[in-house]
Amino acid sequence: MPSNDRTDVIIVGGGIVGAAIARELAKYDLNVLLLERHPDLAMETTKANSAILHAGFDASPGSLKALLNVRGNELFRQLQADLGLELKLTGSLVVATSAAEMDAIGELYSRGGENGVPGLKILSREQVLDIEPNLTEQTLGALHAPTAGIISPFGAALAFAENAALNGVKIIRECPVTAIAVTDGRIAGVHTPHGFIAARFVVNAAGVGADTVSRLAGDDSFRIKPRKGEYLLFDKKASCLVKTVVFPTPTKVSKGILVSPTVHGNMFVGPNALDCRDADDVDTSAAGLAEIVAGAEKLVPGIPVGASITQFAGLRAVADGGDFIIGPSPAVGGLVHAAGIQSPGLTAAPAIAERVAAVLRDLGLEMKPNRRFNPVNPPRVLFSELDAAARQALIRENPLYGRVICRCETITEGEIVAAIHSVCGARTVDGVKRRTRAGMGRCQGGFCGPRVTAILARELSLPVTAVRKDTVGSYLFFDKIPRLCEVDSR
Ligand SMILES: Cc1cc2nc3c(=O)[nH]c(=O)nc-3n(C[C@H](O)[C@H](O)[C@H](O)COP(=O)(O)OP(=O)(O)OC[C@H]3O[C@@H](n4cnc5c(N)ncnc54)[C@H](O)[C@@H]3O)c2cc1C
Repeated sequence: MPSNDRTDVIIVGGGIVGAAIARELAKYDLNVLLLERHPDLAMETTKANSAILHAGFDASPGSLKALLNVRGNELFRQLQADLGLELKLTGSLVVATSAAEMDAIGELYSRGGENGVPGLKILSREQVLDIEPNLTEQTLGALHAPTAGIISPFGAALAFAENAALNGVKIIRECPVTAIAVTDGRIAGVHTPHGFIAARFVVNAAGVGADTVSRLAGDDSFRIKPRKGEYLLFDKKASCLVKTVVFPTPTKVSKGILVSPTVHGNMFVGPNALDCRDADDVDTSAAGLAEIVAGAEKLVPGIPVGASITQFAGLRAVADGGDFIIGPSPAVGGLVHAAGIQSPGLTAAPAIAERVAAVLRDLGLEMKPNRRFNPVNPPRVLFSELDAAARQALIRENPLYGRVICRCETITEGEIVAAIHSVCGARTVDGVKRRTRAGMGRCQGGFCGPRVTAILARELSLPVTAVRKDTVGSYLFFDKIPRLCEVDSR
């Protein structure tokens, strides 16, 4: 819980951007606090997006989006081993199906060159169909970007946060910033339901809530408009349809409805682009889902709608002007914004973090290197990826690895317990899901959900009725159901 010790920097928001900033600041001898309003990190836009490591040819040359996309892509590739990131460089294709679209991908190629994207090529129809034989017959050619890839976005945020916490950053969940104190035009600290926390600097990484957080400090310099994107996720048996990220030629408002594998071996289609009023409206609709299927069919005919296993939506944080807003507040000393971080914000996150650190230094924050900084996260056991001998050795060492809880994804009780007790560990059923994949398979937690609930209850010493699915108040059981909500004690 917050103490009255003076904090150097408070980061508001534990999405990919806040988590990456936390890790970047952990490299320095600073007292840093990350505050997140939900019971877990990565519960808003960071968990619901296209999960693509963009190459960087979309954004206008010279924009922050362009600059930080290309740098972020490079940083992610460098960080993969240290942080244990789930990332595959599949490459991407922007498919052209008309002469006008061939011209458009030619422009993207030039723009990518100006942005410094390595390895871009325009491929002929034959070359494209050789890579992706299930594409539409209308395919005339495509822009190929070899540095594009797919990533687990919530996995990346949790990995940044874990490394930040291991290096001294304090992360407090269920701690919304409700007011910001400003004295003589400068940040004095933040108010939370747990008390006041004094701080020299506040970094606003609050996603679609960034304009609200800014206004809490009296800075009304920008507005965020939420723009929704809906998705359909497919069973692994549909994943053989494409092996790269397949985009249509983009429009002015979005990169269009794409078809892509996920890093966990599924496939998805989406997103559409719907302006909405509420910053928490992530409902999906029949009309929206029909729109994305129709869009995806134009690229890859025969989308197996019957094999979809879930649907979800995420909100783009669209700022006035369209570019990222990264820098000091024009109104309040000590307030730094990382706002309007719409796509490619996931890819750009580590580069945004570098920029925020530079802004803080320019504002007078003394940043001596943290000599004990360890860039490497501890390895995680992925039971399903072990060979038989390694599995047996592990089970002999810890019998919890001998109990498979999620049958769809082969996730063991040992992995779930480790995820609960890791640094910044899981406290909710969805928190376990994001860390282990238990509940992400074909049955979507229908079988393992109650057992995961029981394991959480046992490990956190809670009654099952106090275990939540995801958000504050999202209790799953009103009473203990014998056997369904029980696991062996240990
Ligand atoms: C449909 C869609 C597709 C996308 N596809 C891609 C893609 O393929 N590749 C890519 O690079 N980018 C993509 N993006 C963009 C990317 O997802 C975002 O840029 C990124 O997730 C933004 O991260 P964030 O940390 O800024 O925001 P968030 O993840 O929303 O995190 C903000 C956090 O702040 C917290 N918060 C807010 N207010 C408070 C408060 N008062 N107190 C405490 N905490 C608070 C919230 O609870 C939240 O956890 C996509 C976005 C969308 C919506």
